[in-house]
Amino acid sequence: MGEPAWLDAALEHLWFPYAQMKTAPRPRAAVATQGCRIRLADGRELIDGVGSWWTAVHGYNHPSLLSAVRDQLEVMPHVMLGGLVHEQAGRLAARLASLTPGELTRVFFTESGSVAVEVAMKIAVQYWRNTTGQVRPKFVSFRGGYHGDTFATMSVCDPEEGMHALFASALVRQHVVDLPETPNQAAALENLLSKEQDIAGVIIEPLLQGASGMRMHDPATLRTIRDICDAHGVLLIFDEIFTGFGRVGTMFAADAAGVTPDIMTLGKALTGGVAPLAATIASRGVYDAFHSDDASRALMHGPTYTGHALGCAAANASLDLFETQDRIGQVRSIQERLRAALEPLSDMPGVANVRVIGAVGAVEMVNEFDVERLRAWFIEQGVFVRPLGKVVYLAPAYTIAEPDLRKLTDAVAASIKWMSNQTH
Ligand SMILES: *Cc1c(COP(=O)(O)O)cnc(C)c1O
Repeated sequence: MGEPAWLDAALEHLWFPYAQMKTAPRPRAAVATQGCRIRLADGRELIDGVGSWWTAVHGYNHPSLLSAVRDQLEVMPHVMLGGLVHEQAGRLAARLASLTPGELTRVFFTESGSVAVEVAMKIAVQYWRNTTGQVRPKFVSFRGGYHGDTFATMSVCDPEEGMHALFASALVRQHVVDLPETPNQAAALENLLSKEQDIAGVIIEPLLQGASGMRMHDPATLRTIRDICDAHGVLLIFDEIFTGFGRVGTMFAADAAGVTPDIMTLGKALTGGVAPLAATIASRGVYDAFHSDDASRALMHGPTYTGHALGCAAANASLDLFETQDRIGQVRSIQERLRAALEPLSDMPGVANVRVIGAVGAVEMVNEFDVERLRAWFIEQGVFVRPLGKVVYLAPAYTIAEPDLRKLTDAVAASIKWMSNQTH
């Protein structure tokens, strides 16, 4: 079995994400998925270590997700939420409101995480206009953070990241600061919020800063941020697009910290990797600022596919699985296995440190390495792993079988040896 007939035309016309099209290795043609396996056109099967950008938490082709989407497709693929509403979106909103902590009760659906963050930022800015009448257009975010690829979301990403630097002149300047992990850093955040009167909110990926390098922080840091936001009356946004739905070992990172944000964003695993859907959830207090006889206080946002019925059907089926299967227990046992397998690697030459939280294990190297070559090497080993920057990480489906997880961690260990042989 060779390459499929359609591949050449595809490579002639597709523009791939984050890729230097001229030099990036040829993408592999995937023809089918099942559980934690991706089948390539050449007949090989790869064990998947990243679940398609961390979305496929129940594994691929889970029968309940497929049948939920199929059933919805037969009846009504979608209707717009402008002037109409459908049961899948309504049920999903109610379930998210009851699952998320505190008074996060009002759900706005979008099709991608970046747009969910954009909506959170718009809500925060308009919240001040609707309440005190203040113009507060600015945000505080943290080094090491990632919140999306659109202009507003890029402005709150880590400024050292390539994308941010490329577009720096086109981005609104925000306050990107150190996480308040020490008393000095907390004092700096405190000073910033007391000095600047134009800050609408603080945004953070709680416990785990994912896309920019799988950095982890303590729940206490989130409590510090909550306290400082409360002291200065600034809104707190948790971007749980990656951490939500069990990834860090609790349903949401907010639960682990015992901190409730004013606005939360969800995406990625929301539909179990079956359809694009994201959500922005506002607290009752934030929502109340929009609920008015004054038409100009309405939230002015409305994506064409908001509340897409197929995505909502998949998300409802995914939440059913969280209710009927012990997904959180599975995440915790993955966490133990990742610790046992990866932590010993911290003694290997070239390894800076090893970090594990929930179903995420990351090995950070001291030096940069050739990410593309390493990605290709993993495929040769029969696994799909996508290192980021200096970090080799795993974020598999929660349903991954123990032998498959062991193959992934063995491949990560072997990759460290392979890298050190390359540099000598
Ligand atoms: C992936 C991600 C986003 C962006 O989501 P897209 O669906 O890619 O737009 C935003 N925030 C976090 C924390 C993410 O992991």
